[in-house]
Amino acid sequence: MLKLTDIEKVYQTKTIETVALNRVNLTVSKGEFVSIMGPSGCGKSTLLSIMGLLDEPTSGHIEIDGRPVTSYSDRELAHLRNQKIGFVFQSYHLIHDLSVIDNVELPLLYRSGVSGKERRQRAHAALDKVGLSARTNHFPNQLSGGQRQRVAIARALAGNPEIILADEPTGNLDSVMGEEIMDILLGLNRREGTTIVMVTHDEQQALKTERVVRFFDGSQVS
Ligand code: ADP
Ligand code: ADP
Repeated sequence: MLKLTDIEKVYQTKTIETVALNRVNLTVSKGEFVSIMGPSGCGKSTLLSIMGLLDEPTSGHIEIDGRPVTSYSDRELAHLRNQKIGFVFQSYHLIHDLSVIDNVELPLLYRSGVSGKERRQRAHAALDKVGLSARTNHFPNQLSGGQRQRVAIARALAGNPEIILADEPTGNLDSVMGEEIMDILLGLNRREGTTIVMVTHDEQQALKTERVVRFFDGSQVS
């Protein structure tokens, strides 16, 4: 579903040039759970932003569902970004003055053709999947870190994405909460067939996924 060929990303500032990705080739098939590992600064986040169409590579090719990204119109790309891809970040990125349910509904607000009632239903269903039905009217600061991350996952799920891109989703959590989050992601992948690409520093977690891709200094090493 996602194919990256010879991806290079160079960040150019006034004084230095950083090669964040050096000729990376990676194919992610539908239904796979891939983890990406490597030391800090090796280009993992950059790779995830490129996969999520949030950032463009300096050179290389990206294919989505067998079609080059360059052949999609701006409207189609916006559609892909908003509807096909769900993001989960290490620091949750929740809105603090919105309740849990409102946070989860947020991405659906920008969708045409989704009524207020349907938004609410989908948000409830997503919160149910992450086991947070009893917390819909709480605010983020009334939740533990693991619960906040579950809200963030529910927010990604509310949009019914085909692929979830998770950047160190357990990075701020202790090992027990981290494991809870891993179990949720593994369940989504197995039960619902959601494709997941996850950046992690945790070897144990990575080994639970189908495939581990290792990076060093912008290059794929295995
Ligand atoms: P990782 O996620 O593996 O820690 P990143 O993808 O964040 O690595 O960064 C890869 C390299 O690119 C690092 O050397 C980082 O300093 C550099 N980098 C990342 N983003 C930028 C940017 N916006 N401008 C300049 N350099 C950047
Ligand atoms: P953990 O031990 O997992 O870090 P906490 O001790 O932070 O969790 O919270 C335990 C429970 O109490 C959680 O279910 C959370 O929803 C609830 N809780 C925590 N802080 C507040 C708060 N300020 N107001 C209401 N409920 C809270």
